Amino acid sequence: MNCRILQRRLENDLGSPSPEVFEHLAGCPDCTAHRALLKNLRAEAQAAESPPLSRELLARVENRALAALHTTELRRPFRRELWVPLAVALFALPIAMAQGWLWLQGLFLVLEAWLPIPILTGISIFYIASLGLTLGALYALLPFAVSYANRVETEVP
Ligand SMILES: [Zn+2]
Repeated sequence: MNCRILQRRLENDLGSPSPEVFEHLAGCPDCTAHRALLKNLRAEAQAAESPPLSRELLARVENRALAALHTTELRRPFRRELWVPLAVALFALPIAMAQGWLWLQGLFLVLEAWLPIPILTGISIFYIASLGLTLGALYALLPFAVSYANRVETEVP
């Protein structure tokens, strides 16, 4: 039997070696020394007692854990990191509304002579609806962008 395999086997089952292992141990000083070392380590590990934790240490650890848990629970969903980008983005809203209004005025001014009013109204409604959906989606994505940026920021060491 290979010494390395036998030593591994001893590490897993030190208590009752097989006759084959005993035979090898009788002729191999390395494996005999390894077995003695394993027996000593196991005896020391069983004899060693960990000192009991003091009440003061337990209380301190518990207080710190509760404080950490409390701060993570109390993070408000609408924090400054969210309101500032939202407020800045809202400055673009009047500009987008004015631009839409100018486009509609231009549309009616240029095409009023050639297209009937119901078609122009339909085009206007379609334009307003698509602009509203686009702006709404943009503003609805802001919290996700901010939270993604915060997550990336906290993950960077
Ligand atoms: Zn050996």
